[in-house]
Amino acid sequence: SLKPLYPTHQPRKLKVATVSLAGCFGCHMSFLDIDERLLELIEHIEFDRSPLTDIKQIGHCDLGLIEGGLCNSENVVVLKEFRAHCKTLVAVGACAINGGLPAQRNHLDLAQMLHDVYQSRPGMTVGSVIPNDPELPLPLNKVHPIHEVVHVDYFLPGCPPSADAFWQFLTDLMAGRTPHLGHGLMHYD
Ligand code: SF4
Repeated sequence: SLKPLYPTHQPRKLKVATVSLAGCFGCHMSFLDIDERLLELIEHIEFDRSPLTDIKQIGHCDLGLIEGGLCNSENVVVLKEFRAHCKTLVAVGACAINGGLPAQRNHLDLAQMLHDVYQSRPGMTVGSVIPNDPELPLPLNKVHPIHEVVHVDYFLPGCPPSADAFWQFLTDLMAGRTPHLGHGLMHYD
């Protein structure tokens, strides 16, 4: 049986971290669409690393919400950090679950794409090079869903999952129930 993430005898706030890897932030926007329920949520949770807090380093967390799949080397590092620091890890949205829109590049050759975009597009300056600053993360040949690299505890489907789906999912988890979205909260448009 599942251990409640938020057992009633332990009133400390849950630590929650969120991140957008190869995603569009649409899942984060949908999360924020829970609107005034955010006030109730922050009675029970405290955000750690997240675009919502701008905290850059992740601490030990109860829950990690991952938006987006893996399109570059930095995504992989961040995902592994989240897995190492979060008791429960959730793949949020189509991009994290199956690669989503960014994975549409998977049937194209990466080297050819970089060449086409940076070197042979009409209007490019002669001698243009593919950006190669050492600080830039290296792109992966293919975009990968996160479960191909780390163990994922839950999948929250949708593009994005609706605000009501986020709410149902989080309140179920906090109460120690297996999240159950049911009919009407699972859709892909
Ligand atoms: Fe954006 Fe949809 Fe991907 Fe979420 S699942 S990051 S909304 S494209």
